Amino acid sequence: MRVVSILIESEPVQSFRGVCAAGQRLAAELKASFEILAPASMPDESQKELSSFCDSLLLAEGLDRLDQSPEAILASLTDILGRDVPRVIIFGNSVHAQEIAPRLAFRLGGNCAGDAQSLAVSTNGISVTRSVYGGKASAVLELQKAPAVVWVRPAVMGNADVRSASGKILSVAKGDSVEPASTLVERHSESSGGVRLEDARVIVSGGRGLGSAAPFERLKALADPMEAELAASRAACDLGWVPHSWQVGQTGKKVAPDLYLAIAMSGSSQHLMGIADAKNIVAINTDPDAPIFKHCRFGIVEDYDMVVDRLRDRLIEKLK
Ligand SMILES: Cc1cc2nc3c(=O)[nH]c(=O)nc-3n(C[C@H](O)[C@H](O)[C@H](O)COP(=O)(O)OP(=O)(O)OC[C@H]3O[C@@H](n4cnc5c(N)ncnc54)[C@H](O)[C@@H]3O)c2cc1C
Repeated sequence: MRVVSILIESEPVQSFRGVCAAGQRLAAELKASFEILAPASMPDESQKELSSFCDSLLLAEGLDRLDQSPEAILASLTDILGRDVPRVIIFGNSVHAQEIAPRLAFRLGGNCAGDAQSLAVSTNGISVTRSVYGGKASAVLELQKAPAVVWVRPAVMGNADVRSASGKILSVAKGDSVEPASTLVERHSESSGGVRLEDARVIVSGGRGLGSAAPFERLKALADPMEAELAASRAACDLGWVPHSWQVGQTGKKVAPDLYLAIAMSGSSQHLMGIADAKNIVAINTDPDAPIFKHCRFGIVEDYDMVVDRLRDRLIEKLK
């Protein structure tokens, strides 16, 4: 029996360690081997690092999402994993993984569930716990068929253990290829210069209450001394004040920082879904009844305009 974590990027992003941690734990519970399937284009250093987490690192051509369409990766994975169907297949929480996972489960005759915050072996299968109703409740699903295909929130899965003896690094035959149903016309990459929002330890996030794009410059001045990343509510992104890649929430990124500073945002259930794993939420809002205050550790009922620059000055003073 085997548990397989899947990486569809040639560079292992930091958060993939959470995907590996989930795989290690399940494999131990199932007394199964733990394998990682990753693109053959992965640099040597990354191969070495990943092999220290598992029994076998399997490398295959055609799995890098930057070169391949989701259909092509899906065809490849179906073929490669179909040769010896694993009990559990685990993906991270990327848009590509979400597109591929349910279709892979169907093609391999298994079950699928997403957004897992924890995984465990249960009487009849694999149980998946995830948050529902904007974090107000948790649902536990039991995936009874094999393979159980899941995508997880890597940041809450902990870090993979480095094993004393590294696993084998094996090449596996390339999977089936397909004529893509869609063609990549243009690629546009937004470089923030910092860490990915999903991996950020501190995030300063702005909402519609900021009133325009200009105050985000002040949020940046507050974020910089803390080496924080910037984010926003969907309202602020839809208004064109900041790029859509900054959006946190149900239809945006799921983040898990130590500190999430929510400035001039109401705390809609859709936004809260993206920050359910934040360890500390601090909010600044003029409305004492704003829902965000029910979820934060510290709250300041005040106009952001009165607070942000002072907070930055005090912070710089403290950090001196
Ligand atoms: C299917 C679906 C998916 C969605 N997905 C997401 C998602 O992924 N992420 C997301 O964020 N939203 C999402 N939304 C939108 C969501 O419902 C809200 O509309 C959005 O989160 C509101 O953004 P906001 O808090 O910035 O704005 P608002 O709700 O308008 O809140 C603005 C807040 O600013 C405060 N404020 C005003 N002036 C000031 C000031 N001077 N100083 C301090 N505070 C001030 C106000 O009191 C208010 O609380 C989704 C909606 C749907 C239907």
